[in-house]
Amino acid sequence: MSAKKTFIVEHLDPELGPWSELEYIAIAKESQATNTAFILSSLPDGFRVPTALQDVEAFTAEKRGVEELYAGKKEKVCLLDPAAAKDLCPEDGDAFEAFLFGGILGDDPPRDRTSELRKKGFEGRRLGPKQMTTDTAVRVTRMVVQDKIALDKVPYTDFPELKFSQHESTEMPFRYVADKDGNPIMPEGMKELIQKDADKALDDLF
Ligand code: SAM
Repeated sequence: MSAKKTFIVEHLDPELGPWSELEYIAIAKESQATNTAFILSSLPDGFRVPTALQDVEAFTAEKRGVEELYAGKKEKVCLLDPAAAKDLCPEDGDAFEAFLFGGILGDDPPRDRTSELRKKGFEGRRLGPKQMTTDTAVRVTRMVVQDKIALDKVPYTDFPELKFSQHESTEMPFRYVADKDGNPIMPEGMKELIQKDADKALDDLF
């Protein structure tokens, strides 16, 4: 059996926004459920770790960055990088101990902030051509390296439309994993947060 895997999200924003918070909680709970570890690294001084994260045994908050954490064993870390030349494959689960992600909110068009981690020289792998949210990228990586599902066999839903009512909907500009009904898998509370943000944007117009 291969060693316990670690999923590292290097937090690249100065603070913790509500979207990232929900994403990190989802990653922590899935890490706990799959007997893997989740490290949120490079946390600035004064970073408030939400109780919902602290309560998860599989979760570690870390002030040090990934370079320091993996000093001397850089080759064991795989950076999930939308600009990498090679796609992730199930065998990568045997080659790497840790999988590294940018703790960045998705943006449209993508600003390539993953380059901040690319510069550090970790071996990179792509998860296909479409931008995913950070929790989706971690979910897909688990499916490939732990469940050994080929990247192109993962069920996806691209740019799903979230319907809030008959007249209100939002299209999400990302790729998600689809559940058995074809709906995007999202962190708990995310749909409500997106609706709240959409309502606020509308209110601000008037
Ligand atoms: N727009 C972003 C950027 O500036 O790079 C992408 C950020 S994405 C929301 C957050 C993280 O998920 C990325 O840093 C990367 O680790 C991972 N990720 C998302 N989509 C990916 C893909 N198609 N291939 C590889 N990694 C991906």
